[in-house]
Amino acid sequence: MKKNKKIQDFYYAFFNNKSGITIRDYLDGASYDALGEIDLNKDELIIRYTVSDKYFAPFFDGSFSSLYDFTIDNVVHPNDCVIYQELMNPKTLEKRLSQSDTPNFLHASLRYRLKEGGYRWVEQCVITGQEYGLREGVVLFYVFDIETKKNRELGVVNRDITFDVQERDTVTRLYLEKPFFNHSLEKIEESPDKKWCFISIDIEHFRLFDEWYGIAAGTNLIAHVGLFIKKLEEEHDAIGGYFGQDDFSVLIPYDKEVIDKLYEDIRVYTMSFGTSVGFMPAFGICLIDDHNKMMETFSHASVACFYAKSDIKKRICLYDINMHSKSEQEYRILVDFIEALKKHEITFFLQPQYQITTGKIVGAESLSRWFNNGKLISPVDFIPVLEKYGFITDLDKYIWEEVCKFQRDWIDKGYKPVPISVNVSQVDIFTVDVTNIFLELINKYNLTPNLIKIEITESAYSEESNSVRETVRKLRTHNFTVIMDDFGSGYSSLNMLSNLNLDVIKLDAKFVNFNGDIKKGIHILESIVNMTKTIAVPIIVEGVETKEQLDFLEGLGCRYVQGYYFNKPMPVSEFTKLIENSNHIDDSGFKVKMNQQITVKEFLDNNIYSDSMLNKILGAVAFYSWHDKEVDIVRFNQQFYESVNVPNFDERLKSIQRFLPEEDKAKLYKALDEAMKNQLNGSQEILRFIRPDGTYSWFIIRFYYIDEQDGEHRFYGSASNVTDQANLRQQMDLISRFSSDSIIFLDVKNYEWTFKMASHGLEKVLGMTLKEAEVELNTRKYYDRLPKEKVVLLRDFFVASFREHNSFTYDFELKHTEGKNVELRLRADPVDDEISSIKYIITVGLRDN
Ligand code: C2E
Ligand code: CA
Ligand code: CA
Repeated sequence: MKKNKKIQDFYYAFFNNKSGITIRDYLDGASYDALGEIDLNKDELIIRYTVSDKYFAPFFDGSFSSLYDFTIDNVVHPNDCVIYQELMNPKTLEKRLSQSDTPNFLHASLRYRLKEGGYRWVEQCVITGQEYGLREGVVLFYVFDIETKKNRELGVVNRDITFDVQERDTVTRLYLEKPFFNHSLEKIEESPDKKWCFISIDIEHFRLFDEWYGIAAGTNLIAHVGLFIKKLEEEHDAIGGYFGQDDFSVLIPYDKEVIDKLYEDIRVYTMSFGTSVGFMPAFGICLIDDHNKMMETFSHASVACFYAKSDIKKRICLYDINMHSKSEQEYRILVDFIEALKKHEITFFLQPQYQITTGKIVGAESLSRWFNNGKLISPVDFIPVLEKYGFITDLDKYIWEEVCKFQRDWIDKGYKPVPISVNVSQVDIFTVDVTNIFLELINKYNLTPNLIKIEITESAYSEESNSVRETVRKLRTHNFTVIMDDFGSGYSSLNMLSNLNLDVIKLDAKFVNFNGDIKKGIHILESIVNMTKTIAVPIIVEGVETKEQLDFLEGLGCRYVQGYYFNKPMPVSEFTKLIENSNHIDDSGFKVKMNQQITVKEFLDNNIYSDSMLNKILGAVAFYSWHDKEVDIVRFNQQFYESVNVPNFDERLKSIQRFLPEEDKAKLYKALDEAMKNQLNGSQEILRFIRPDGTYSWFIIRFYYIDEQDGEHRFYGSASNVTDQANLRQQMDLISRFSSDSIIFLDVKNYEWTFKMASHGLEKVLGMTLKEAEVELNTRKYYDRLPKEKVVLLRDFFVASFREHNSFTYDFELKHTEGKNVELRLRADPVDDEISSIKYIITVGLRDN
C-alpha cells in the first residue's frame, strides 16, 4: 500500500509547524508504519495506513477498545504495557491530550511484537485538535519504527529486519546449526588462506539469568549477543551461529584483538544487568588447520569452552590437545558414575570431630567414597567433574539420604547419635530446593535437625548471589546448623562473615603449613582465629595432622578439630565402634570461647603477613587521613576498590566528604572522632555516597585509629557496600507494616515494571509456587485468571493510582489453578523512598467476608 498523499502532507505539516517539538530529531527520518484514526465517542477505529506483515498487530478497522485490549495482551512487550496504557487508555485519552505539555500531543516509546517473533522499538504519537482538521473526540495515532535510533541509544549496532527465517534464528538473526556449518565450509573454501578459527561461546549460568532477571531480559541478552556477533559478520568476514539457549558459535579469521573486543562487549553487556560476576561469558577457540576436519575443530572449540567455564580467570581459552584427553577422562567419569550410583558403589566414610580439651567426639563429617572394581576413586577426582556438569546433586542427594538412614538406624539400635555434617555443593543450591530436601529427609527418617549439619564451601558465598544467602537463612530458620567450609581458602572476608549469620566456620589447618614457612602460617591462623572470635562464631579446624598443630590450636583457644592426627575418614562400621560407648560423646554442641579482642594496631604492626593473605582475610581495606574537614583515602586494596565499585574512583579519593549528603558528612566526622576515642573497638557508621549518576551507594564503614602524623590523623578501615541490603531493609520495614501473607514488590527500573514475590502467600491461595506466580505476574499471564472486564479495570485503576502515587485497595476474583475461584483483596501502597527501585508494595490476601 502506498502512503496516502493527504496524510503525508499532514505528517510534514505537523512536524514542521510544531517547531517547539524535537520529535523530528529522534524520529530521525523514520517514516511511520501505521496510522489510525480513532473516534473516541463511538469507540471506532479506522486504519489509514499500515505496513503489511511486520507487527503482530491487528491493524484493521473496528472497535478501538478491543484493539487496545488485544495490543496490551498480545502486542506490546510485557514490560512496556504500562507505558502503552498510560498513552492510549481510551477513558482518559482526551483529557490527557488537553492537559499535555505540548497541547494535543502525546507520545511514548515502547516495544511492539513482530510477526516473525521478537520485538521492535516504536514511537507511538497521538494527536488531536482543530489545527489538524480533526473533529472533537477524534484522535490520530502514529506508529514509528525507531529501532535504529533506540539501538544506537542503547549502544547497539544497526540490525536489518530482512533475513531468511529458514536459515537464521529469529531472535539473534544468526545462522541455525546446519546453515552455520554449510556457510562456514563455503567461506573457508572461498578463502583457504585465511587463518580461520571457530569460537564457541557460552554465557555461564545463563539459566539463572532468566530466573533472576526474567525471561524477557534473558531473551534480550541473547538478542544483544546476537547483535555483537552480527557486527562481526559485517565487519570481519565472520559467520555467526546460534544453537539455542546460550549456545553461540562464530567462524572468523583469527584476530586476538577482535575476539577480545567481542568478549568485552558481551561481558560489559551482561554486567550491565547489575550485580553478578556469575554471568560471565566463556570463549573456547580452535584454529582450523584442515577444512576437512571442520566438525572436529568445532568440537575442540567446545572443549576449550568447557575449560574457559571452569576457570574464573581465564575466560578465553585456546584449544590444546591435553584438554581433549582430560575431557575424555571426564566423560568416562560421568558415564561410570551413573552406573556406580545404581550399583551402590558409592558410599560415605565418616571422619570424627573432637572437642580438644575433653577429647570427646562432637560429630563427624560424611565424605563420599567410590569403589570402582575394588579400586577407590578419590572425591577430588570425581567431585569437581560432577560439579562441572551438574551431576553433583544426584550424588549429594543420595549421600544425604544415606546419612539420614544411618542416623535412624543407629537410634533404632538404641544408641546415642552424634551430629553428622554433609557437604552441600553450590550447584545443589542453584538446582534444587536444598532446605526442602533436608526437611523431607528428616521428616521421612524422623530425625531432629540438629543431627544433620550442613557444610557449604566458602567459595559459594563469593558468588554474589542471593540464593546461597537465602538458602543459609532458610536452613537456619529450620534449625539446621550451617558450617562455612574451607574458610580462608578463597574470597571471603570477615566483613562478609559478620553479615552472613553462620553457625560455624571451618578452617583448614594447612594455613599452619603455609608455604612451608611455619611461623608465618601460624600467625595467619592465629589472626583468623582471633578475628573469628570477635564476631563470636565457633570454629572447627580440620586437616590437623600433628601434635604440634594440635597443641598450638589448643593454645589459641580453638575447641574443635578434625584430622588425620585423630582419624582418617573411616567406614561407617568402624565409626560406630567409636561411638558405641556414649561416654566418648560430647553432645553440648559447638560453642565459642570468647577471647580478648586484638587491637587493630597490634594487627597492623605485624609485618609477617603476606599482603595477599591479609587481603583475602580482611576484605576491603583502606587507609584514611583526616585533617580539618578534609578526609582522604590514602591507600586502599583491590577488594576495597571492587567493593566500592564507583566509576572514576581515582578522582574521588581526595576529600571524600564531598560525596556525602550533608547529614552524612556530620556522621562521618562523628565516626572518626569516635574511633579516636575508642581505639580498641573503633567506630562504625552507615554512610551514603553520591555516585556520579546521582544515586546513592550505602556503605557500612568501620574506622580504627592509627596515629597522628604531621597534624593529620590516620585511620584504617573497612568498607562494605550494602546498597542492596539497604534497599532490602527498607522493603522489610514496609513488610512488617502489613499482616497479609502475600507480598509483592513492584520494582521499576528504566520504566520497566517487574513484580517480585516477597512472600509465599500466593502459593497457597493459587496453588502454584512462588516462582510460577512471579512468572505469571511478569508475563501478565494472570490476566487469563481474571474476568475480562476486570483486567481492564484493574489495570486502569493501577495505572491511575501509580501516576498519582496513591494507595489503593481492590477486590477481585481470581481463578485458582484447580479451577475454582478465590476472592481476593489487593492493597497497593507506594514506597516513599527515592533510593529504592521498589516503587509499590502490593499485598494480596484472601478476602474474609
Ligand atoms: P572437604 O569438605 O574440605 O573435606 C575434607 C577433606 O580433607 C577430605 O578429603 C578429608 O579426607 C581430608 N582430610 C581430613 N583430615 C585430613 C588431614 O589431616 N590431612 C589432610 N591432608 N587431609 C585431611 P576427601 O574425602 O578427599 O574430600 C575432598 C573434598 O571432596 C571434600 O573436601 C569435599 O569438598 C568434597 N566432597 C567429599 N565428599 C563429598 C560429598 O558427598 N558431596 C560433596 N558435594 N562434596 C564432597
Ligand atoms: Ca566439608
Ligand atoms: Ca574443608
